[in-house]
Amino acid sequence: MFDPPKKNDIQSPKNDEEGEMDFELTNRQKQIRLAAREFAEGEFPGVAREYDRREEFPRDIWKKACELGFIGLFIKKEYGGLGLGFLEFAMVMEEFWRVDPGCGNILLTTFGSELIQLYGTEEQKKKYLPPLTKGKAIMGTAITEPDAGSDILSILTLAKRDGDSYVLSGSKQFITNGSIANYLAVFCLAHPEATSRLKRFGVLMVETDRPGFSAIKITGKMGIRASDTAEIRFNDVRVPRENLIGMREGEGFSQIMQLFNINRVIAASQGIGVAQGALDKAVSYVKKRKQFGQLLATFQATQFKIAEMATWVEAARNLCYQAGWMLDHGKVDPKLISIAKYLAGEVGVKVANDALQLHGGYGYIADYDIERFYRDAKIVEIYEGTKEIEKNTIARELLGRM
Ligand SMILES: Cc1cc2nc3c(=O)[nH]c(=O)nc-3n(C[C@H](O)[C@H](O)[C@H](O)COP(=O)(O)OP(=O)(O)OC[C@H]3O[C@@H](n4cnc5c(N)ncnc54)[C@H](O)[C@@H]3O)c2cc1C
Repeated sequence: MFDPPKKNDIQSPKNDEEGEMDFELTNRQKQIRLAAREFAEGEFPGVAREYDRREEFPRDIWKKACELGFIGLFIKKEYGGLGLGFLEFAMVMEEFWRVDPGCGNILLTTFGSELIQLYGTEEQKKKYLPPLTKGKAIMGTAITEPDAGSDILSILTLAKRDGDSYVLSGSKQFITNGSIANYLAVFCLAHPEATSRLKRFGVLMVETDRPGFSAIKITGKMGIRASDTAEIRFNDVRVPRENLIGMREGEGFSQIMQLFNINRVIAASQGIGVAQGALDKAVSYVKKRKQFGQLLATFQATQFKIAEMATWVEAARNLCYQAGWMLDHGKVDPKLISIAKYLAGEVGVKVANDALQLHGGYGYIADYDIERFYRDAKIVEIYEGTKEIEKNTIARELLGRM
C-alpha cells in the first residue's frame, strides 16, 4: 500500500542541526493519511449503521484492512507489520474514526501487541505478532475487573504458579475483542507474595481456546457497538510460564503503564476523529438547510459555532500529534499524554453535541449519522483511563503526590 517512512523522514534535518521546529507532516505521512481516508470512505459508510444496529464486528472490513497493511502498522517488518510509528497509527485511527468510530475500532484488534513488541521474548514476538497483521488472529488486553476499574492495583485475578505453569482464576470486565479474540494479554497477580505492591503483577498471554476460559459478549452498549466488548472468566485456566510477557517476574505493572502511554495517544486520536467527522457533517448540513428563508450557514451564531468547533479539534489534534511524535522519538511524557487524551475526549463529546444541535430534530434520529457519532464519542472519556484519572496524572505531575 505504502512504504513505511524511514524514521529520519519524520524529523527535518533542521530539527537537529539548527534547533528549529517543524510542524509539517512528511510526504509519506500525508500519503498514509490519505490512504486511510480513502479506505474508510470506501468501506464504512454503506454498512456502518447496520453493524451498529446489529452490534456486530465488521469481520470482512477487518480482513481487507489487514490485506492493505492498516492493521498493526506499527509492528516491525520482521513480525509482519510496516514498522511505522505510533504517530502514524494515531493518524490512521483518526481517519477511520472520522468516517465511523465503531468500524474504526477494527484497528484495536492488535490491542496489547505493543506490549509484546516492547517486552516480549523473541519466541513470543514470532508467535503472537505475525497472525495479527495477516488477519489470522485478533487480540485484546484484559485489565479491568468488576471491582477494579480505575484502581488497577486492586485487581484480584490470580495466576498461581504450579511447576512450569500458571493457573489463572478470576474475571475481567468490559474487554475489547473479548468474545472474538484468539488471545488476550491478561494483567494478573502473578507474584502476590512480592513485598513491594507494584512488583506483584504480570501480564500473561492467554489463548482463548484453553480449557476454563469463557467470554460473554456485552450487548446494549451506548456507542462503538460494532466493537466487541465482553466479560471474561478464568476458571483454573492453565497457562505455561513461557506465556508471561518478557518472562520476567514482577514487571507487569510497569509494562501496563507503558501500554497506557501508547494507547492514550491512540484514544486521543479517536476523540479527534469523531470530532472531525461530526464537524464535517455539521458543515455540510448547515450549507443545505434553510430556515427563515436563508441557509443556517448564513447566521452568525452558526458561523461562530462552526469556528469554535474547528478550533477545539485543531487544538486537540496538535496535542495528540505532539504526544505521538514524542513517543516515537523515545520521549515519553505521561503528563502531555494525559493532557492530550483528556482534551481529545472532551472535544469529541462537545463537538459531536454541537454538531447534533446544528442538525436540530433530524440529528436526534438514527437516519442521520450524527446520532451515532454523538453516542460513539463518549467512550473516549471513559476507557484507557477516565478523564478524571487523566486529570489526576496531570495534577500529580504539577503538585506531586498529595
Ligand atoms: C466499551 C468499553 C471498552 C473497554 N475496553 C477495555 C479493554 O479492552 N480492556 C480493559 O481492561 N478495560 C476496558 N474497558 C474498561 C475501562 O477501561 C473502565 O471502564 C475504566 O477504566 C473505568 O473503570 P470503571 O468502569 O470500573 O469505573 P470506576 O473506576 O468505578 O469509576 C467510576 C467513576 O469514578 C471516577 N473515579 C474513580 N477513581 C477516581 C479518583 N481517584 N479520583 C476521581 N475520580 C475517580 C471515574 O473517573 C469515574 O467517573 C472498557 C470499557 C468500555 C465501556
